[in-house]
Amino acid sequence: MNPPTYSFVIPIYNEEDNIAELYRRLQQLIAGLDGPAEIILVDDGSCDRTLVLTRQLHTDDPQVRYLSLARNFGHQIALTAGLQMAEGRAIIVMDADLQDPPEVVPELIAKWQQGYQVVYAQRIARQRESLWKRITAYVFYRFLQQLSDIHIPTDTGDFCLMDRQVVDLLNKMPERNRYIRGLRAWVGFQQTAITLHRPPRFAGEVKYTFRKSLTLALGSIMAFSKVPLRLATYLGLFSSALAVIMMFLTLYWRFFNPSSQLIGYTMITMAIFFLGAVQLICLGILGEYVGQIYEEIKGRPLYTIKEVGHLPQTSHFPSP
Ligand code: UDP
Ligand code: MG
Repeated sequence: MNPPTYSFVIPIYNEEDNIAELYRRLQQLIAGLDGPAEIILVDDGSCDRTLVLTRQLHTDDPQVRYLSLARNFGHQIALTAGLQMAEGRAIIVMDADLQDPPEVVPELIAKWQQGYQVVYAQRIARQRESLWKRITAYVFYRFLQQLSDIHIPTDTGDFCLMDRQVVDLLNKMPERNRYIRGLRAWVGFQQTAITLHRPPRFAGEVKYTFRKSLTLALGSIMAFSKVPLRLATYLGLFSSALAVIMMFLTLYWRFFNPSSQLIGYTMITMAIFFLGAVQLICLGILGEYVGQIYEEIKGRPLYTIKEVGHLPQTSHFPSP
């Protein structure tokens, strides 16, 4: 059987009230598409009727394929599992709660057909999400963009379309701390955004608890930034600068105001700051090595290739 043109990859955790509506809206969408599609539902260890409903959909409609993880591994891992299962030439990632409206997908596809390998949805407004969620999301995306070594677009979720080429690369990446939006930006190629007013959930409660969001945020910063590791070095440099200032102060008083009571105190403080600086800088050096080890262990390809103009007869070109 030929692979489908489109794969819809949808991680689902306890979304029993959304599945029927999700399927209905997807069916409407797929009917209007220009090629065959598959729907991949990844049950992330749900404890409600999600799996039962998913199984039923699969029995009724062979277009629906599913995968059920043995426990709740979290959204990014469920998504990874779905991407590994997908066979389409264009892979569309969506949430199950209809906050990523299927009706927007034709816009993503149009951009893909224009030659973009990644088309992601950027949220310009979030309807009826709590103020807390909006503020934390706003701050987090900007903070990550400042800290990150690569450009990770702000206010974009996982809702996107990716070309098979990009998904093949993601599937090859062995790293375990997976912030898919970051990895998606990391691979490069032609990427573009469409804007979206994010609707509220169709039904059910938010599954991304504060703890899960925090884990994701910290994980993404660790995976895409070396700034936290360098913090010790920066503090060490600051502390040594203070020690130098104090040294000059002591010398100044020693020569121009030898009777100053402050000389002794300043010398002791200087020594403390100096030793602190030495320790922090040493920690920073350790941090750099830990960072290098982490970099190696992430095992990302060294580079990603867009085009090759000429290959010699017997190619030694490594596949990234
Ligand atoms: N989800 C998941 N595993 C989890 C948490 C969430 O697969 O551990 C799924 C959830 O079912 C939904 C998507 O991830 O399809 C986004 O979750 P949610 O709507 O709670 O997050 P938000 O839209 O608030 O970012
Ligand atoms: Mg949601």
